[in-house]
Amino acid sequence: MLVAGSRKEIHRRPKPLTDVRAKLRRAAQHISEIEAYIRSRQVPHRVKEKIQVESNEPGVAARFSLPTPIDDDLPMMVGEAIQSLRAALDYLVYDLAWIDGGQVPQDQDRTLFPIVERPEGFAKAAKTALKGLNSQHCQMLQAVQPYNGCNWTPLLQRYSNRDKHRHPVAVTWSGNCPFEADLILNHRQQGSGANSEDACKIRLKLKADAKMTNAGVGDRVDLRITSGDAQGHRRECCSAENAELSVIFDGAYYLPDGRPVLETLRLLLDGATKLVAQFEAELRAARVI
Ligand SMILES: [Zn+2]
Repeated sequence: MLVAGSRKEIHRRPKPLTDVRAKLRRAAQHISEIEAYIRSRQVPHRVKEKIQVESNEPGVAARFSLPTPIDDDLPMMVGEAIQSLRAALDYLVYDLAWIDGGQVPQDQDRTLFPIVERPEGFAKAAKTALKGLNSQHCQMLQAVQPYNGCNWTPLLQRYSNRDKHRHPVAVTWSGNCPFEADLILNHRQQGSGANSEDACKIRLKLKADAKMTNAGVGDRVDLRITSGDAQGHRRECCSAENAELSVIFDGAYYLPDGRPVLETLRLLLDGATKLVAQFEAELRAARVI
């Protein structure tokens, strides 16, 4: 027989810091996913692209677009890593409020991990966000505030606010894209008309290198082939079919402030992990856990 469960929220309390640790692990998993994503772009990437034979300027034969190495998934993964870190820290304060206050924080206790620019802001936050925490724990949180020179909390705050309230973190990519193209040109003799007897297919194999700067999601880069066998063909004599391209994205991913994605996320994870470890050691020493 099925019995409908109570809809009342149950404040299940696992061992203190269990949820905090679990969220930090999730953040680490998201960062590993991002690392794998980046690695997957650095091996030859096969794409089919439509190309256009254009202009009769000397040496310009064909033009096509390459997709950039970023799709919609990457900013989502970066956002998830950041939100997991932010949540781990909020869970930490909630657990501390519970441990120090000796009871379940009530709905009116809006506990959260404060990240503030000035000491006055921290004093204000202590009355609400840190309600129930003892003074030693408050001091430990104060030590990682941006105004005390902490290098990772201001970054976490910046990215977290953007991702949560505005839009996914705008990740960009810069680097080189060496590529090989294999394409078919429909070539016909000049002046001979477009009928099939006079037309032939010419296969071109090309190697080239392109540079992309600050490419974002959905951006494409136009490439022109201006050298090699391509030089002999123009719009007058050729139309083109799809090109098979093999591209390597040899570059790096950046956050909106120009910091490298992976290194910065690791810095945030490291900062949060060390802080949680400090609290864990402190709670152990005080025989709370
Ligand atoms: Zn041609």
